[in-house]
Amino acid sequence: MSHPGAVVIVGDSIAGVTAARELRALGHDGRITLVGADRHGAYSRPPLSKSVLKDDSADSTLSYRLDGLDVEEVRSSATNADLDQKRIATADGHLVDYDALIIATGADARRLAEPGQRGEFVLRTLDDALALRTRLDTADSAIVVGAGFLGMEVASACVARNIAVTVVDVDRPLERILGPYLSTLVTDRAERSGIRFIRTPGHVSLSGNPVRGIALPDGTELSADLVVSCIGETPNTAWLQGTGLADHLGIGIDDTCATAFPDVYAAGDVAYLRKAANRSAFWSNAVAQGRVAAASALGHTPTSAPSDDYFWTEILGTSIKVLGSLPLRGAPSHIDGDPAAGSALLIWNRVSESPTLVAYGIRKPVTRLRTMAASLTL
Ligand SMILES: Cc1cc2nc3c(=O)[nH]c(=O)nc-3n(C[C@H](O)[C@H](O)[C@H](O)COP(=O)(O)OP(=O)(O)OC[C@H]3O[C@@H](n4cnc5c(N)ncnc54)[C@H](O)[C@@H]3O)c2cc1C
Repeated sequence: MSHPGAVVIVGDSIAGVTAARELRALGHDGRITLVGADRHGAYSRPPLSKSVLKDDSADSTLSYRLDGLDVEEVRSSATNADLDQKRIATADGHLVDYDALIIATGADARRLAEPGQRGEFVLRTLDDALALRTRLDTADSAIVVGAGFLGMEVASACVARNIAVTVVDVDRPLERILGPYLSTLVTDRAERSGIRFIRTPGHVSLSGNPVRGIALPDGTELSADLVVSCIGETPNTAWLQGTGLADHLGIGIDDTCATAFPDVYAAGDVAYLRKAANRSAFWSNAVAQGRVAAASALGHTPTSAPSDDYFWTEILGTSIKVLGSLPLRGAPSHIDGDPAAGSALLIWNRVSESPTLVAYGIRKPVTRLRTMAASLTL
């Protein structure tokens, strides 16, 4: 399609906001409508676990600015997409016509609670973070289910707040993605900080209503003042039911962020690259796809890739920045610094792929890491 008059973006987090910015940067002077369900508007999620849980002054720093973009905002949930009529319906009764549609509805937290079971905490939205922070104010103990990035960040917040925390997972912390070397490094440090880890032989269930703990499959019961489930996310595609746009992985896209339907593009956590057949639910990826989707929606050939393999996390005050493909296996082939002392640059050489760089506890800007990675691959 060339020069669409009206572009509708559904979802106003980083992928949707990036798409709106890119549309204007590429010269689109037609209508842009941004449909967003969250009552707080557009905001950044990474600080929710890193600062909001510990510090209420962080709340006011999260919003994405839309100044100067001349965007019409519809603050309601999209409930239906009519792909023939090219029209979006929202819960508050708006009908918004589009020439090009960008879907950026992201994902929501997976939950463990049975229907009707109250009191499970998750962390995906600002409201989730505010509810969890309030509960942490009076808690002495917490259980975190899931030892991935989010689980480890929530456990770190508990430590910072002097709350005894137990992290439960079937795998070793972070091992699925960061491999055994970094898993050991992080786990040793976390245990020294007082985090208790339990390997469960299978999936756990929540016990009590309201929730007061968890049950392991071998019958072991653990109790705590609160339980936070950090067990991944599911793409927000329920509103697209019946359109054929989404499957169990989310919305399949090609390298131009095009879906299988004309003039419909998708970006961010809701989408997955069909050639890779898995979602890469990271911030930089959502930015990369927001840009590509905007260019494609305008009929341009995208000049950047629909993926970005930069990821960062922060655990117990130590930043871990990863540039390159994951998962990592085995030990690094090069170590510069002292990982045990909490500061090192680590490199994993990979067969027939670019190396993966990890800045562990080094506040190196991502631009520097990218330059280093480029020099290593020459
Ligand atoms: C606590 C936390 C910490 C994180 N930390 C990191 C990190 O350190 N590093 C990193 O790389 N990544 C991190 N991530 C992941 C990163 O935030 C996500 O990859 C990113 O937010 C994805 O952006 P998105 O725009 O695709 O989707 P989302 O951020 O999920 O936003 C989707 C938006 O769409 C809206 N929406 C959903 N359904 C509808 C509908 N039907 N109608 C209208 N609007 C709708 C939602 O309200 C939401 O605002 C973190 C995520 C969380 C939750």
